[in-house]
Amino acid sequence: MSDKLNLIIKGGLVVTGAGVTRSDLGVRGEKIAEIAPELNVARADRVIDATGKLVLPGVVDVHTHPVYLDDMGGISVTAAHGGVTTMIHYAYAKPGMKLVDTLSQFRDDGLKKSVLDFGLHGGLFDVEHQLAEVPTAFKMGITSFKVFMTYAKLKWMTDDYWLTALMDVVASEHGLVAVHAENGLATDYLEDKFLREGRSPVGTFTAMRPDLLEAEALNRAMSLAKVTGCVLYVPHNSAAACLEPLRRAQAQGWKVYGETCPQYLTLTEETTLRVGPLAKIGPPLRTPQDNAALWQGLADDTLVTIASDHAPKDKKPGDDFFQAAYGSPQIETMLTVMYHYGVNGGKISLPRLVQVMSETPAKLFGLYPRKGTLQGGSDADLVIWDSTRTHTLAAASQHSGAGYTLYEGREVTGALDMTMQRGRVIVEGGHLVARPGQVYFQPTNTSHLY
Ligand SMILES: [Zn+2]
Repeated sequence: MSDKLNLIIKGGLVVTGAGVTRSDLGVRGEKIAEIAPELNVARADRVIDATGKLVLPGVVDVHTHPVYLDDMGGISVTAAHGGVTTMIHYAYAKPGMKLVDTLSQFRDDGLKKSVLDFGLHGGLFDVEHQLAEVPTAFKMGITSFKVFMTYAKLKWMTDDYWLTALMDVVASEHGLVAVHAENGLATDYLEDKFLREGRSPVGTFTAMRPDLLEAEALNRAMSLAKVTGCVLYVPHNSAAACLEPLRRAQAQGWKVYGETCPQYLTLTEETTLRVGPLAKIGPPLRTPQDNAALWQGLADDTLVTIASDHAPKDKKPGDDFFQAAYGSPQIETMLTVMYHYGVNGGKISLPRLVQVMSETPAKLFGLYPRKGTLQGGSDADLVIWDSTRTHTLAAASQHSGAGYTLYEGREVTGALDMTMQRGRVIVEGGHLVARPGQVYFQPTNTSHLY
């Protein structure tokens, strides 16, 4: 075999979940060929000097919504500017829609428009009429399926009968079920009551979706998953109250994996009060005590992944809060926010950051070690990161169609120099270099969790 390399990234601090080493990284074709203390630059067509920089695996964001204001193309562009290299999108089959058709459309659309590799989760809004298609989805490389335990009034909610039925079928296929865990009927009642009483929706938003009703739904989902033998993934844990049931289940060996998002670690209801509908997300932003507990849960392995829940919607600060849609743009800021508040802030170590943002998400969905790490044979999906550059977060310099960020005006230290996927530069010097349509659909596999 030729000794030739296409690229050497020289002199960087290479970070994996195992630690940090001063290494050169050689790329041949789409793969990392070698990582060594010293590679001869004469072997490579191109050399990138990464002296003093961090070289991180690209972020694997397993919670994204490529609809709303960022489509399959737009979300990948804003993601790449934030250091993400692989996404697993939620493909929602609304009532009346076929699951398999929806998944095929998302896959085909992404293959045309995306600048980043991606996989899909199925999202079922009508399990009764969509469940029979689940085994076909497995054959397409889609092995994880989400339902909502909340949003009953929006007709998005799956009741316990059909949640149990879904878990039963998915378990038999060795797949994974994800739930949005909030008690939908109770939160709807509280919302109706507060509305009737004419209370300020902004001021009562957290009280309408209280932490105990999130922990209750989480605990119920874990129980149903245990009974059916299904592996459970719980996106966007937002509350300290979620951690105790998670820890108890994990101590008993139940297969439940908890995610949280940068916004639940770093923002509170103070933001909701300040920007109103722009910060209307579900579950809601909570308290500084919740932030602190979630950082602790992330550090002690109760929570195992960070994802963005990127869902930019058309909202203005003056919009009616009750009518406003749930969701916020997050994918471009996620690594910066986690680096600044997590690593610089002394909440988590750099290897732990890589574990929760790259390695573990890739492992859970069967993409590891091709994705999610830096080692010989892995896809050359990486980020070159300047840990010293201080900048101010602002929507004006971001690429989402949302037109706002909940982090507007925050000064942070740590910035992206380059995003690379399979050896191709995607973003460099703040500019998109890649073209759409050169991506691979990533079939997931969760059978190793059984
Ligand atoms: Zn979401």
